[in-house]
Amino acid sequence: MTEVAPNEIRTAELGALGAKVHDCTVCRLAETRTNVVFGAGNPDADVIFIGEGPGQQEDEQGLPFVGRSGQLLEKLLGEIGLTRDDVYIANVVKCRPPKNRDPRPDEIDACKDYLRQQLELIQPKAAVTLGNFSSKLLLRTDTGITKLRGQAYEWWGRLLVPTFHPAAALRGNPRVLADMQADFQTIQAIIEGKLQRRPPEPSAAAEEPDEVADPEQLDLFPT
Ligand code: SF4
Repeated sequence: MTEVAPNEIRTAELGALGAKVHDCTVCRLAETRTNVVFGAGNPDADVIFIGEGPGQQEDEQGLPFVGRSGQLLEKLLGEIGLTRDDVYIANVVKCRPPKNRDPRPDEIDACKDYLRQQLELIQPKAAVTLGNFSSKLLLRTDTGITKLRGQAYEWWGRLLVPTFHPAAALRGNPRVLADMQADFQTIQAIIEGKLQRRPPEPSAAAEEPDEVADPEQLDLFPT
């Protein structure tokens, strides 16, 4: 009997999840979207990039981070020896909020289980939040991205690297681009195993949740 490789299972399960999300009408964003933008990339990726939600071009094409932001993301990936096909790219909400407004709490709540399942299936070493919104949301903080970035945070069994949204660098401030390049060096260090999670303290180990294993315990976002 031919054994099925784990990444084949992951690919199949991600595909099944994507097909389910494709028809999702759980929240009001279904009424105004053109396409669901589930996510795209390598199901076996070491790193998942997480943005806020699809913009106009993403909504039209059904793919995350296309257009100029996507091109800059690909350039930054290239500088650390990666392509878009090496990583996975997703958003907090899978449908475009009208006029690119921030997703509302009930929309985030309705959609968060999809991102949680993507994380459980892909099991990346690093999660990279792109921009203020997803960084603050996933790290449960009011601190802005300018202060948050520049380090990696322990986050549910992996490291989370907050960085700017590529659109911020495209506004022309060279400092933002330089900071993003530094953050991508951090991502590379995690992928290469040069930067790792601290082992849990013995006394705290019993209380730490399994590595993104228990869906009931993994509450990704503030309630
Ligand atoms: S944003 Fe998420 S929960 Fe809302 S309709 Fe789209 S896929 Fe469903």
